[in-house]
Amino acid sequence: MLTQSQDTTNFPLPPDCFVTAAPRNDKKGGALQPFPHVIASEAKQSHLFFGIDLTSTPAKPSACLALDDELQLIYFGFIVTDDDIITIQNLYSPQVIAIDAPLSLPLGLCCLERSCPCQPKSSEKNRKCDRELRHRGIPCYPTTKETFIKGLIYRGISLKNKFCQQGFNVIEVYPYATNTCLFGKAIPKKTTQEGISFLKQRLATILPTLSPYLELFDHNLCDAASAAYTAFLYHQSMAEALGDAEEGLIFIPKASQGKESP
Ligand SMILES: [Zn+2]
Repeated sequence: MLTQSQDTTNFPLPPDCFVTAAPRNDKKGGALQPFPHVIASEAKQSHLFFGIDLTSTPAKPSACLALDDELQLIYFGFIVTDDDIITIQNLYSPQVIAIDAPLSLPLGLCCLERSCPCQPKSSEKNRKCDRELRHRGIPCYPTTKETFIKGLIYRGISLKNKFCQQGFNVIEVYPYATNTCLFGKAIPKKTTQEGISFLKQRLATILPTLSPYLELFDHNLCDAASAAYTAFLYHQSMAEALGDAEEGLIFIPKASQGKESP
């Protein structure tokens, strides 16, 4: 069984400053468990795939999780600031970083401010990738000036730009879409006990090395795991791009990747 204290030569422990937060679903009154951050037993130097379930503000830590190219769990934790998220990516140098947040605006928009005269080129609302998701019956957040996730979009774009300046390969993912592709559309709401149990059980079938740690996972870490897995699939040419390359793409598993019937 993997433990936190086993050989981490290839994947050094991050400094204590990264031990930032307990899972957000920690039971009331229960003692906060120290949150493990590196889980690598016989990890080899290999390609790593990072999933980030980005929040709109550092006030809510973002769940992050890394897999290697044999789908071993390498890292998971909650990270607060953009600087710490960037530092940990520099520490691990992942091949692909998958971020669960819109990483672009509709073509024509320079911002999401109603006071700015910029206008989308398309007469249709949102980005093409958002519209394609909806056409497949997968609801997603709006990316128009009327969006209620402006903070998340700005944070996502800013983080993506910083990663790209450093040479990282960044993709946009949407864990709900990934989960729908992999596990079918009959997914119970992830904020319910039934939903979180369903997600953990299904994730364990595709990512068995998560199993010893799933008790610690909330739905945000499950999303980070789905994001990291999508990054892996992307690298294996097993992901499909939705949308327009100039505007911004969302990657989802190719249809053949579904392992469970709905
Ligand atoms: Zn503008």
